[in-house]
Amino acid sequence: MNTRDAALAKVRELSHFIGGKHVRGESGRFGDVFNPTSGALAAKAPLASRPEVERAIAVAKEAFAGWSETSPLTRARVMFRFKELIERHMDELALLISNEHGKVLSDAKGSIQRGLEVVEFACGIPHLMKGEFSDNISAGMDLYSIRQPLGVCAGITPFNFPAMVPMWMFPVAVACGNTFILKPSEKDPSCPLRLAELMLEAGAPAGVLNVVNGDKEAVDALLSDARVAAVSFVGSTPIAKYVFATGSVNGKRVQALGGAKNHMVVMPDADIEVAAEALMGAAYGSAGERCMAVSVAVPVSERTADELIEAMTPRIRKLKIGPSTDDSSEMGPLVTREHRDKVRGYVDLGVKEGASLVVDGRGFKVAEQPNGFFLGGSLFDKVRPEMRIYKEEIFGPVLSVVRAKNFEEALALPSDHEYGNGVAIFTRNGDVARNFTHKVNCGMVGINVPIPVPLSFHSFGGWKHSIFGDMNQHGPEGVRFYTRIKTVTSRWREGVNPGANFGMPLMK
Ligand code: NAD
Repeated sequence: MNTRDAALAKVRELSHFIGGKHVRGESGRFGDVFNPTSGALAAKAPLASRPEVERAIAVAKEAFAGWSETSPLTRARVMFRFKELIERHMDELALLISNEHGKVLSDAKGSIQRGLEVVEFACGIPHLMKGEFSDNISAGMDLYSIRQPLGVCAGITPFNFPAMVPMWMFPVAVACGNTFILKPSEKDPSCPLRLAELMLEAGAPAGVLNVVNGDKEAVDALLSDARVAAVSFVGSTPIAKYVFATGSVNGKRVQALGGAKNHMVVMPDADIEVAAEALMGAAYGSAGERCMAVSVAVPVSERTADELIEAMTPRIRKLKIGPSTDDSSEMGPLVTREHRDKVRGYVDLGVKEGASLVVDGRGFKVAEQPNGFFLGGSLFDKVRPEMRIYKEEIFGPVLSVVRAKNFEEALALPSDHEYGNGVAIFTRNGDVARNFTHKVNCGMVGINVPIPVPLSFHSFGGWKHSIFGDMNQHGPEGVRFYTRIKTVTSRWREGVNPGANFGMPLMK
């Protein structure tokens, strides 16, 4: 037995959740789940084999027959109870996230709250699924469209929001009458498993929401099985592309959200203190492991850049970084040692590429947690668009400042970048803000708002390589994604025989 196997033998073994029950993994393969604060191995997550995934699909398919026939009101009532259960278990869920992801508790709760808002949105499903009706399109004829569920839907989610991103998906899918298989990140699966238990407690019949833990093998099984009608994916761009291409070729509806490099433009007229405070949370909150984190600041003019750097530097040095469950921590550790080392490697790279490292977080340590996956906040100035630290997603507490001479240059940076998730502008000038909003080539825009995550009754999604597929998550687009439209033309005219018509049917 090697050291990893010996350690794995001692830790808690997680399960899958299929057909309303915890099901032990059978593949013999496991993923490591760490406590990022201590660096200790905390649990092992089973990595499902293809036959295990196929069994889960069969269970979800069987449950679909009954669930899709329930009334929207019945499904809404399950969502209302689920909402109450999440509220009741908020502290417990936040602790599960904090212990496996490393986000501080207040941030973990905030992310659950954002997921909960999608549950609240899904409570309105009787209204949201209403179709359209055209009365009397011809004598005795009506034309109407109805929305029907798709069948078994799958969700494949990233490590950085183990509650919120699954809740972007399954509440809407399930409220629409679908059954769901969630394949959460193998790095922090305990919270998604708990959510599935709570859905059962809320009254969702067994098999309506299933959780299958796994890696590429489980994902490939979902992508190739004809019984899966639709796949929602959120994660990195290379995998999003792969999921989109493979799922689409196999005839599935796919929405695949990818990575990001979000810019925040700071105009010369902006209040620098306000912009700096906004940047602190947006760049270093959740250790920068957010798809809407601001990783590039674009001050316009040398003076604005100098002032911004001056305002940011002491703030970054004073960041309170510590155990994720310590209430005084503003930032916790990164999710794994491997990811922390990758982010640290980007700081090394930036120095090599010639950017100016104003704050260096590489040497940061938490004395009482020497093995935790901690990294201090870093700030680069004079980053140029051709550098890899600008082009690539770092996904950690590293902020790059790219100085722009004028508005046009600042507008071009996010617009020409490969990614186009979120973008923000800080200014006091309405004309400038409006012009920027209209022209910028990104999907979600903040005006004096650093992280413009839409609320649940709007839809979430970026542009360019931040999304593959054309329907966004939750909100009206979510309902459209998880339903298909059926259009019915009906005639009720007793005693009238319209006769054979060999031409194109026309309405009079
Ligand atoms: P990831 O792409 O590594 O993993 C996402 C999911 O894909 C996981 O469930 C994982 O098990 C699975 N997966 C990993 N490798 C696979 C493979 N080769 N084949 C099939 N499936 C595979 O992403 P991550 O590291 O967990 O999450 C961070 C990324 O997610 C960042 O790029 C971030 O920007 C992105 N993200 C995007 C959004 C958005 O809304 N656009 C939101 C959150 C996170």
